[in-house]
Amino acid sequence: MKSIAKDFSNKDYEKHAALFFTEEGIVVNSHTSSPLLQFGKIVKELGIIINEAYEDGERPFIITCESLLTPDQMMKKGFHIESPKSFLISLQNEKIQQCILRAVHWLTWDSKLQHCSKCGTKIQKVFESTEKKCDSCKHSFYPKLSPAVMVLIQRENEVLLGRSAHFKPGVYSALAGFIDIGETAEQAAHREVKEEVGVEIGELEYFGTQSWPFPDSFMIAFKAQYLRGAIQIDANEIQDAQWFDLNNLPALPSHSSISRKLIESVLLKNKTWTHYE
Ligand SMILES: [Zn+2]
Repeated sequence: MKSIAKDFSNKDYEKHAALFFTEEGIVVNSHTSSPLLQFGKIVKELGIIINEAYEDGERPFIITCESLLTPDQMMKKGFHIESPKSFLISLQNEKIQQCILRAVHWLTWDSKLQHCSKCGTKIQKVFESTEKKCDSCKHSFYPKLSPAVMVLIQRENEVLLGRSAHFKPGVYSALAGFIDIGETAEQAAHREVKEEVGVEIGELEYFGTQSWPFPDSFMIAFKAQYLRGAIQIDANEIQDAQWFDLNNLPALPSHSSISRKLIESVLLKNKTWTHYE
């Protein structure tokens, strides 16, 4: 990640792809539904005033900006602004998804880390990587990741799903929680399941990971077989949890989420595939 805020004279930049972020969200081409826009063209077309600009290797530039156009004027030119979170939820293209995840994580962290937490000196905006260094005490800072675990518990033809108060109405998902300090991901998985629903699980089967920068979660997903215990909900952690038959599942999280992929992997394995919305 390299700050390029003071150097737009470089002609090579003109045709480079860029992601434009305003206070309201990410700028999207309404016709193609893509946020990957041609840097020079869009700056002129939408009357963009650049606040910060970052070069990121072969990836698109990351631009924070304001537009001189109103939302109506922007719409007439074929563009609109969406919240990055809702855009990511509906996005299927994994390559673009990864660019946006990285950009949002970077910008959130960049805006928070204004001063050195060790000596209080203001951190300079110019840097060459995702490392930021305090000019005064030389302490290094890197973007924060908060690791969390997700567990999908299976019992024959059923899965245990729960819902939090902040989920959309009717949506259930695999159980999840943050890893505590000094804990392994596996220990966290067993502990979270026991705390949230009171059941015990057997050996964990690794499924995959996903970064989710709202604000900085890094999710490690597992599958596990049920061992023993009846569901006893911790109301401080979740609103509800139930066993669901694989042929009769509730509303599930969005297709782009790792929780959805985790649940679908069990559906596929059990050949009970139905298209759930
Ligand atoms: Zn310092």
